[in-house]
Amino acid sequence: MIPTVGRAVFLGRDGVLNRDHGYVSRPEDFEWLPGVMHALRALQRAGWGLVVVTNQGGIARGLYGPAEYANLTAWMHSELAQHGIALDEVYHCPHLTDAPLAAWRRHCDCRKPAPGLLRRAARDLSLDLASCVIVGAKPCDIQAGHAAGVAACVRITDPVDPAAIAAADPPADYTCASLAEAARWLLEHEQTRSA
Ligand SMILES: [Zn+2]
Repeated sequence: MIPTVGRAVFLGRDGVLNRDHGYVSRPEDFEWLPGVMHALRALQRAGWGLVVVTNQGGIARGLYGPAEYANLTAWMHSELAQHGIALDEVYHCPHLTDAPLAAWRRHCDCRKPAPGLLRRAARDLSLDLASCVIVGAKPCDIQAGHAAGVAACVRITDPVDPAAIAAADPPADYTCASLAEAARWLLEHEQTRSA
């Protein structure tokens, strides 16, 4: 069963919370996906911490700077707060091994599929990784979840097309079309397990 202490849902950002337009860096381009607020509130009420873990290669590519990213993240926090949702933290990786900008060029341990962001969150927030889950829209999210040893990995695809999930993709515990469905599965699963 999934214990209720020190647990969080790790959330990818693009394709999970907002429509993935590619390198979203401004509030005016940030389009919340349907049902996200309701799903986050339901998870929060059930005692799950909410932690966003996001690759931000756009910083390494010089498409936007750390200040612009920080501004968007602050805006995201305030939008969620208006809906009664408090993210525990948002972690990002600004690196790329072949970054055009030397300042961000490195072999880091935080760019997903590496589990560095999840491990950092576990240290900072006293999370038990084996009690956490990850919900992501990309194969690297599922790989990061496996590498960190979380309890379950949920993959969002839009639309859900089993054939579109290549056999080579890392296997997820559940695949669905939205965070709303992911949250429903997680909450049902949790009740089944603790019953
Ligand atoms: Zn990194």
